[in-house]
Amino acid sequence: MQQTPAMLIAGDPALDFLNTVATPIDVPVEWLDDGEGLLTWLGQAELVPAALLKRMRSQWSAGELDKVAEQARSLREWFRAFVEKHRGRPLARDDLKKLERLNRLLERDDSFSQVATATSSGSGAFELRVIRQWRSPEALLFPVAEALARFVCSEDFSYVKACEGLRCTLFFMDKTRSRARRWCSMAMCGNRAKQTAHRRRLRADR
Ligand SMILES: [Zn+2]
Repeated sequence: MQQTPAMLIAGDPALDFLNTVATPIDVPVEWLDDGEGLLTWLGQAELVPAALLKRMRSQWSAGELDKVAEQARSLREWFRAFVEKHRGRPLARDDLKKLERLNRLLERDDSFSQVATATSSGSGAFELRVIRQWRSPEALLFPVAEALARFVCSEDFSYVKACEGLRCTLFFMDKTRSRARRWCSMAMCGNRAKQTAHRRRLRADR
């Protein structure tokens, strides 16, 4: 079972998903190592409501959930290759054929919309709510697929960055005004780089 809390530093759930394998402090961590790891991460990333995760846990066997975690890892590594190849410039229409795997997965989603009582007061009586059926353990992949799809449709790949930290593999969206973000976080890689530079300066001074 996974103890390390999910790292949600990327500024977008699709990149947070890529960051589910990382080396936060020296030792590599795999958040999606099994079904339980996947369920925990989906809950922490708020991609699946807690009540549903509970239901999925009791409805499906550990083996079945482990299998979905394996599919999630495979999806993640496929998407990582796509992001690595395309980051740094806007996506082009021609890139669509490379996203076929994602569209095939989205095709299997059995969500539908319903008119429902509005949850927030102040607006009208109703809201349009998307209902997912959760008919198979594979359904756990659909909110992830949706996040990846939203990401390629709405984010500018020019600002997808990889942390400059030595051995760091984390991706993030640079949403700073100056587009000068270099680190996954100051607490992790930023400070480490500062310390290294400081030590180097001290040595040079001597
Ligand atoms: Zn980093």
